[in-house]
Amino acid sequence: MQRIAAPAIDLLSLTPADARAQVNEWLAARGEPAYRLRQVLPRLWRRPVGSWEEASDLPAALRRELAAAFPLGRFALSAHQVSRDGTEKFLWTLADGEAIESVLIPEGKRRTLCISSQVGCALGCLFCATGRMGFRRNLAAGEIVNQVRELVMRDEGGGAVPTNVVFMGMGEPLLNWPAVDAALTILNDSAGFAIGARHITVSTVGIVPNLALLAQRQEQFRLAVSLHAPSPELRLALMPIEKKYPLGGVLAALAQFRRRVTFEYVLIGGRNDSPELAERLADLAAPLGALVNLLPLHPGGAPDLTPSSRAASLAFERRLKRRGVAAVLRRSRGLDISAACGQLRVELEPRSKVRSQEHAHVE
Ligand code: SAH
Ligand code: SF4
Repeated sequence: MQRIAAPAIDLLSLTPADARAQVNEWLAARGEPAYRLRQVLPRLWRRPVGSWEEASDLPAALRRELAAAFPLGRFALSAHQVSRDGTEKFLWTLADGEAIESVLIPEGKRRTLCISSQVGCALGCLFCATGRMGFRRNLAAGEIVNQVRELVMRDEGGGAVPTNVVFMGMGEPLLNWPAVDAALTILNDSAGFAIGARHITVSTVGIVPNLALLAQRQEQFRLAVSLHAPSPELRLALMPIEKKYPLGGVLAALAQFRRRVTFEYVLIGGRNDSPELAERLADLAAPLGALVNLLPLHPGGAPDLTPSSRAASLAFERRLKRRGVAAVLRRSRGLDISAACGQLRVELEPRSKVRSQEHAHVE
């Protein structure tokens, strides 16, 4: 009798516990020995393969059946650029032809991977290149973690997992919460990528109801909130989301958050970099014990805005520090390859060109 094929399951979008249950049941139905589970599961994340065919420790017939039941989605690498400072930008083409970017930032022993959570973004912040492209779609959890998988599979040095992951690529992670929730588990779980929760940062403009969902997670994931302005009026001029989730509500939600938060503040010349605004920012950050990350504006995001001068940036940082606020003026990374984390945008290649470069297969 012919077995009726069950619908294919995207294991990569499941948490390790759910993936384990699925594979376990599937193996048991085939009368496979119990140790197969220990051969199959690590191939998702710990020692990833791009296709089941590559899992050469498994019998060929089983590999074929695994490929039919649990196809492994792959990305095509349509561009890879390396900056003079070592920052690498990866432009991935997804199965449906959409494109996203990830950026790898080496810093001493750290290798921080900046990943995307959506294709584009609906929030239209004035200074952000992703915002200008608008929202196209959410990523599945498997597509979020595939940015790590693809990196590991391509690493000639033997599959190094990044030491840190930041959700600062394309998209607003808290507007894709179910997928980001599962992706956080996969990144952190010892059967997944086993990256410590303190080394995983979710960056958000402050989608208030979903901040609570993140806060409910037991693990110590880090939270970065994109503030960019210490007053509602100025914030509204830079970030349309201020209308829906006003600054006051975001700050009130953060006061409930049991962990230390980081504020992100892009320094824009003549717009949000005055000494008075530094004082107002200190008024907000000090009571929360928040760290302030001062980010130089990447000019690629907004042609009509200018980065703050070095002198104004240093003065802004000094004022915060004088008020007892831990502030760090970041260096811009990957400037020559427009890979400043968080202002990513697929270079406007004609779609056909991206497609013609699609060389990796999608199983
Ligand atoms: N949507 C989320 C996460 C992605 S953006 C958020 O906004 O927090 C990640 C960070 O990059 C944010 O702090 C964002 O404000 C910053 N960013 C966006 N455009 C930028 C630019 N042109 N220069 C510098 N930083 C930018
Ligand atoms: Fe979206 Fe973040 Fe860019 Fe704003 S800064 S448009 S929220 S990706």
